[in-house]
Amino acid sequence: MIDPCSIETSPLLSVGGALAKIEADIQPVTATEQVVLKSALGRVLAEDIVSPINIPYDRNSAMDGYAISSRDINTNQPFTLSLAGTSWAGKPYRESLTSGQCVRIFTGAVVPNDADSVIIQEQVHSDGEIVVFPANVQAYRNIREAGEDVEQGSLLCRRQKKLTPTDIGLLAAAGIYDVPVRRKLNIAFFSTGDELISIGQRPEPGKIYDSNRYALAGLLTDPCYNAVDMGAIPDDRALLEDTFKQAAEYNDVIITTGGASVGDADYVKDILASCGEVNFWKIAIKPGKPLAFGKIGACYFFGLPGNPVAVVVTFQQIVAKALRQLSGAAVSKPLRLLATCTTTLKKAPGRQEFQRGILTQDENGNFFVASTGQQGSHILSSMSQGNCYIILSAECVGVSSGEKVLVEPFGTFL
Ligand code: AMP
Ligand code: MG
Repeated sequence: MIDPCSIETSPLLSVGGALAKIEADIQPVTATEQVVLKSALGRVLAEDIVSPINIPYDRNSAMDGYAISSRDINTNQPFTLSLAGTSWAGKPYRESLTSGQCVRIFTGAVVPNDADSVIIQEQVHSDGEIVVFPANVQAYRNIREAGEDVEQGSLLCRRQKKLTPTDIGLLAAAGIYDVPVRRKLNIAFFSTGDELISIGQRPEPGKIYDSNRYALAGLLTDPCYNAVDMGAIPDDRALLEDTFKQAAEYNDVIITTGGASVGDADYVKDILASCGEVNFWKIAIKPGKPLAFGKIGACYFFGLPGNPVAVVVTFQQIVAKALRQLSGAAVSKPLRLLATCTTTLKKAPGRQEFQRGILTQDENGNFFVASTGQQGSHILSSMSQGNCYIILSAECVGVSSGEKVLVEPFGTFL
């Protein structure tokens, strides 16, 4: 679709189209390394891991009480059994139970052979070696079977999984000491622009603080990435070209911000074309239209826009997905849901928009979203105040209050 307010003469590549081109182009890293479990959090598993043991390892008690055999239960009236011993968590009672006996047992303790029921202690009176049970206690309760959670030889975690804290716990429960993971990605990132000064320097007319590198450093914080901050590079064609070429030799990915548009000092796309290949350099997204994707040698290149909101939007909607694929992780999709919009949203047709919103939920579970206000691609405070994107299709020509809109909470994946 052509945006009537735009200078474009031909239709721009859609966001979906750009993602499809990236997906077709990216070859995930294949090298693996063995890491100890403690260092595996957030890494991408290179192989399926099966359990070498049953979890639980033994049949054990789910409650504190008395282990008995169902054969000894008297259904009509209270009955007594003699106390044969105690099974503690970590110190099992090693004898078999004989008829007329019970064993004191605690949560997690191995259930003795020939016992098949645990009666909770609250139901029982004990008087020295004699234990009195009420009529009609229920057999076969409060026992956790061996392998009930995970059976020996069955799958613990599938390859391509980005390991979560609970995955690490599960692997530890199986006694797994180390796991094979894909190697980390080496990523170089830098800002471009003559106007940039670093935090710590005095503000001056015409200069701005380089905020993009700080936002990017945060966005690139991930156990799968070795991200190196290469600083801010002035708008100097030769210097930029040298920096790109050098960074491409040692990295899997280069990410730049600024200079990706069509101004006189915007060299990124031209340099990419002269020392590598440009796959695309503009897409129908707002904010973030000037977005260059290509390769220099074997290194993938993302030239993001300069405007701070556009950097975050294009990173989260495009680059993050590409990096995830490159890291070897399985595809995961951001959670998207419908919410009632409580404000009016302005929108021109032509580009898919990712406006910033504040998502709330009422006591009945209904979702509502309000605009954060000004949506300029330089209004970084909108991104900080918001907690979600309001996603408006390329065709959309605005939203009235009360309409349903598609919303993507920041940082929630399925
Ligand atoms: P450009 O794409 O280089 O034309 O930059 C577009 C806008 O983003 C300009 O207003 C720049 O000053 C601003 N900008 C570029 N780089 C940064 C940066 N690293 N931090 C904050 N703003 C930036
Ligand atoms: Mg610039």
